[in-house]
Amino acid sequence: MKAPLVLEMKGNSLDDGPGIRTAIFFKGCPLSCIWCHNPESKRVEAELSVSLDDCIGCGTCEKTCPVGAATPRQQGIVDRSRCTLCFACTETCPPKALERVGKEYSIEEIVEKCAKDKPFYDVSGGGVTLTGGEATMFPEWVSELAKALKEKGMRVHLETCGCFNYEKIKECLLPYISSIYMDVKIYDSDAHKKYCGVPNEVILENLERLLADSKEMGFTLLPRTPLIPEITDTDENLTAIADLYSRIGIKETELLAYNPTWYKKTAKLGVEIDKELQGLDHWQSKDKLEHCKSIFAERNIECL
Ligand code: SF4
Ligand code: SF4
Repeated sequence: MKAPLVLEMKGNSLDDGPGIRTAIFFKGCPLSCIWCHNPESKRVEAELSVSLDDCIGCGTCEKTCPVGAATPRQQGIVDRSRCTLCFACTETCPPKALERVGKEYSIEEIVEKCAKDKPFYDVSGGGVTLTGGEATMFPEWVSELAKALKEKGMRVHLETCGCFNYEKIKECLLPYISSIYMDVKIYDSDAHKKYCGVPNEVILENLERLLADSKEMGFTLLPRTPLIPEITDTDENLTAIADLYSRIGIKETELLAYNPTWYKKTAKLGVEIDKELQGLDHWQSKDKLEHCKSIFAERNIECL
């Protein structure tokens, strides 16, 4: 069973589920949201991250690169059309302006690393979070990991885009999961396809199935919506989502204020920012966030 690539294992996280957690960010996602907060997690393969801000112009990479793809700083450091992703330059760049994104770990390595923080999980109600990217893209491997973590007494939380084969995930992964955050980004399926790359029928169906199975299988479920200006944060979209929650009996949600930090990360990977998001490099106003929350409050749905 081939291990998926991990782009980061973030310890002491307070943002990725209840309590203090270690968040494991897997590489690869079935969606391709144009605002992706972790753009380096979209592709399954390893990538080269280039930070012009960190480059000191020493020229070491030009000497290291076997195919002449590393260029002077003024030319952007790497000619990606020639780069073969050998990652030799990442070993020699003094300030780590060039970095490999995506590393393989064994299940044993992850469990051992997480077990060291178990006392912190235990006192805070935390544990280990499987996120990404999308952990459910690797059902067998991730379920082995979740099982091993659970056997060592660690609670496992899943952050998911909801786009997965329900029967498969129910059978192999859900038995080891104690809580789930699931994204519900856009209600209209055509708009979901336009901005996230796939239609959303499966996602909305999976939301209802997770809700139905949550009590019996013993996990909690919190749907969340990232607020993207003029795309997901419109009254029309949020009203449709809130009405859906009312219909199916969801009483709590979380709205994630627009976070512009993805902007710089996307540029480092040499990926162009979508024209609809050009200039959206600032945080959302508090007033807008409160207005979005009021749409749910009117339907007695609490925004945590
Ligand atoms: S990853 Fe390899 S081929 Fe690409 S710029 Fe670095 S050394 Fe050259
Ligand atoms: S080795 Fe690193 S710091 Fe030196 S020129 Fe290349 S990218 Fe810049």
